[in-house]
Amino acid sequence: MSLNIETRCIHIENAGPNPYGAISYPIFQTATFAHPGFGQSTGYDYSRQQNPTREHLEQMISSLENGADALACSSGMAAISIMMELFEPGDHLIIEEDLYGGSIRLFDHISKKNHITFSSLDLSTEDPEPYFNEHTKAVFIETPTNPMMHITDIEKLALTAHEHGALLIVDNTFLSPCLQNPLDLGADIVIHSGTKYLSGHNDTLAGFLISRSEETAEKLRFISKTTGPMLAPFDSWLLLRGIQTLSVRMKAAEENASAIACWLTSQKFVKKVYYPGLPSHPGHEIMKKQARGFGAMVSFTVKNGEMAKNILNSIRLIQYAESLGGTETLLTYPLTQTHADVPEALRKKNGITDSLLRLSAGIEHTEDLLRDLDQAFQAAAAAAGLRTI
Ligand SMILES: *Cc1c(COP(=O)(O)O)cnc(C)c1O
Repeated sequence: MSLNIETRCIHIENAGPNPYGAISYPIFQTATFAHPGFGQSTGYDYSRQQNPTREHLEQMISSLENGADALACSSGMAAISIMMELFEPGDHLIIEEDLYGGSIRLFDHISKKNHITFSSLDLSTEDPEPYFNEHTKAVFIETPTNPMMHITDIEKLALTAHEHGALLIVDNTFLSPCLQNPLDLGADIVIHSGTKYLSGHNDTLAGFLISRSEETAEKLRFISKTTGPMLAPFDSWLLLRGIQTLSVRMKAAEENASAIACWLTSQKFVKKVYYPGLPSHPGHEIMKKQARGFGAMVSFTVKNGEMAKNILNSIRLIQYAESLGGTETLLTYPLTQTHADVPEALRKKNGITDSLLRLSAGIEHTEDLLRDLDQAFQAAAAAAGLRTI
């Protein structure tokens, strides 16, 4: 019997041995493992290679994304850095142009130094076909993208990538495995910043690489054990604990995001709302086809930069902070926070302006969030000498 995802967030099918029946999987806080005798092994040697707590977590993530294997890393960027080690000087990647700022920084400053080249385009609207060449090894996307919420048809892009012998790699952080499983749609590698929804409590950094094939998984495991950016046992346990409530948190956060997106569309000083759950969003139908929900991230632009800053100064319950996916609602200013290192021309092209705000809906009561936004909007309007109605 295959279990539903809500159940798989709590129970691992075919989990390894658990000799004392501990309901909370133990933290094996050890760097090394003794061997019973020469040529014998408990199955573990040294925690850089594998640790039972991390292995338990990896089985959980692999099950949630329907992968052949999952690797738990010390952060989302560690996962993306390991992934980039699959490529060699001279290789070429096609990448979505609107991505998490840290990924763009990695490609611009580390990968380019390693002589890997990139074509960056809006894959939600542009045809990637002319960008493939004999050196193209992979296509890298987020859908929805951070922060402009571009939606790409994963199944269609996987077919195109495979026709050219390239991998499709999807950073699935914004939706979590509860809402979207790119491997089922043809992707080859899925990435998560586990810091976000999977951890769920803004208390630890983590990252994941999930592969569809054993062959890719083996390559990634070799790179990881050689370079060393894996997740510690205690942090692995925090992730296991967070994931137990992933499905209920995603539902509650999405409900809030949807209500907030609707509320924002009715506001006089809001210029544009980017939320794929709105039927007017250009990616709405694709999202309905490939995901089980629309997620809990909402970006929006207000009248001007002054207004955006005044809103950030006026929120009380909602916190002004970067990151996302936790129980608390956060408001981010991408221009100077998550996307500060994106080259200015690209930021402008993508629409990351001084009037853009990005909201990560938490799981507080909807009314309390709307009341806080309402008072912050009124205060921001008053500060600018305007009236909200
Ligand atoms: C946060 C984030 C990352 C980076 O993850 P860290 O855990 O902060 O290293 C990568 N991709 C997306 C979409 C993110 O939101």
